[in-house]
Amino acid sequence: MIDRKISQAARMWRDGHRTEEIAHAIGFSISAMRSCIALNADLFPRRSIKQIEAKAAAKSPSPPKAPLYDGIPYGRLTACGCQFPLWGDDERYNVETSLWCGAPRASDGPYCGFHANRAVGPGTRSEREATRTLRKMAA
Ligand SMILES: [Zn+2]
Repeated sequence: MIDRKISQAARMWRDGHRTEEIAHAIGFSISAMRSCIALNADLFPRRSIKQIEAKAAAKSPSPPKAPLYDGIPYGRLTACGCQFPLWGDDERYNVETSLWCGAPRASDGPYCGFHANRAVGPGTRSEREATRTLRKMAA
């Protein structure tokens, strides 16, 4: 349990998160987190402020908006509006500023056509091979 928390903390440390963010994420106090960092110097190599700032500046951009839709706050999202969140992976949801797509949904799913296509990935290798195998069998 503790080992898993420490390895999660080390991963966040390498990704450039601040000590306070890491402590909050794994449920440690800030002083306990600082002790953990000092005791596990091999897992938490020293970082400069420039390194941390460079990582923070490289955070992922906000997801793209559907054409003609600028996004709406949660309170204006209707039952037939696209529920795709328009904030970045690194941002936290904020009830006053965070927006949802709100474009008309494509079908039974929660997203509009634009975001439904973005939400579906290419699939795993075995999933892609299964599709090819089924096509060969059908031919
Ligand atoms: Zn959408």
